[in-house]
Amino acid sequence: MRIWDLAPKRLCRQHLLGEQRELHAIWSISTVNKTGYSNHPEVLRWKGRLKALYIRHERLVTEMKKRGYMHRSPLSLKFATGKSKQDRRIHSYKDQIMILKNKKCRCALCPYLMRHSETLWNEPT
Ligand SMILES: [Zn+2]
Repeated sequence: MRIWDLAPKRLCRQHLLGEQRELHAIWSISTVNKTGYSNHPEVLRWKGRLKALYIRHERLVTEMKKRGYMHRSPLSLKFATGKSKQDRRIHSYKDQIMILKNKKCRCALCPYLMRHSETLWNEPT
């Protein structure tokens, strides 16, 4: 389970849709189920920061729509409480680029993004 701290436009289809799916899982664990993976570091990172997670979801959906992907699962705004900015990271920005690189994704976009990763390291998300 992972929410990237990278700009959504930097994620290829597979990684963008994958994050969106995992975000829904984290949201569900944090708001409704509260069991299962509730001690997962990525779940704990968003504790008290569900407003920030809600905003991340909005940004992913905006990017998905821009690319013409379907999205029919809005989050309930009533759970969007706490901090509106995520200030904790599990991996540094640079390490996240390395993790993406090591996935050796075979899509057309990833090799391009990874080749230019040096310029992405300091890009604001
Ligand atoms: Zn890819």
